[in-house]
Amino acid sequence: MATIIDGKLVSASVRGRIREEVAALSEQGIRPGLAVVIVGDDPASRVYVNGKKKACAEVGIYSEEYALPASTTEEQLLELVAGLNQKAEISGILVQLPLPAHIDSNRVLLAIDPRKDVDAFHPTNVGHIMIGDYQYLPCTPAGIMELLHYYQLDVAGRECVVIGRSNIVGKPMAMLLLHENGTVTVTHSKTRDLPAVTRRADILVAAIGKTRFVTADMVKEGAVVIDVGMNRDENGKLCGDVDFDAVKEKASAITPVPGGVGPMTITMLLENTVRAAKILKTGC
Ligand code: NAP
Repeated sequence: MATIIDGKLVSASVRGRIREEVAALSEQGIRPGLAVVIVGDDPASRVYVNGKKKACAEVGIYSEEYALPASTTEEQLLELVAGLNQKAEISGILVQLPLPAHIDSNRVLLAIDPRKDVDAFHPTNVGHIMIGDYQYLPCTPAGIMELLHYYQLDVAGRECVVIGRSNIVGKPMAMLLLHENGTVTVTHSKTRDLPAVTRRADILVAAIGKTRFVTADMVKEGAVVIDVGMNRDENGKLCGDVDFDAVKEKASAITPVPGGVGPMTITMLLENTVRAAKILKTGC
């Protein structure tokens, strides 16, 4: 029976550290501030944005929300981002994705000052991650690395398999595992005989977006299994990409959904916002 990796516990511990840091920075006249921009009325995005604002308040980070109608033009959004780049009270800018189809997300992400890019999606920050010299890490992969560190699950020399190659999760995840000396394989929808590849994994990260896609026969005995998926099953219940009940009998450690990776993502956003405030004030 696997160790259940408790994202809520680790998240609470990291948030405690962030709260203390925010208080210490305030004595030096540094106040981290996050601007969250949401366009349209996607219910899932609304839930994420509310969660981010609440988390900021909990640790003492100032936040502003810009809720724009779905009819907002790309130029209007770019104008808002340009204003936030200049705004002294704001150290981090987060544009909630997905954006409506008529807006080019890449153009918008490119417009964010890389020093305020707390999602680490700007090509400048992506490049820094690639060469291993980074200020910000994308929140979900960074949160997963925190979980592995907290539970002392060593990456060095181990076979790591990432399912999924998105810019938000799969690719940066692979890079962070590689930086910690894992032997990394990235798989995707065109991978041949995926179970044969996943069965090699000492550390298996599932970031697919398909309910209970990873079954027990795809997992090596004793593997560490990280489930990034956030899906709704046929009853509307939140569930991951991994068949948790069956896989937990085989894995040595596993993240549940909910309560695994999810809580860490927002926590790492808070950490990036604090880092951004320090960088903007002191240059490092
Ligand atoms: P995405 O952009 O849709 O990427 C999904 C990836 O899965 C793609 O690379 C795709 O391959 C691959 N894939 C799809 N079907 C596959 C198959 N049959 N075999 C192997 N690979 C397959 O999704 P994402 O943004 O990375 O998100 C993945 C999941 O994580 C979603 O459930 C999302 O909601 C969740 N998520 C959770 C958090 C969190 O905080 N917990 C944060 C971000 C995302 P191709 O590239 O070949 O199409």
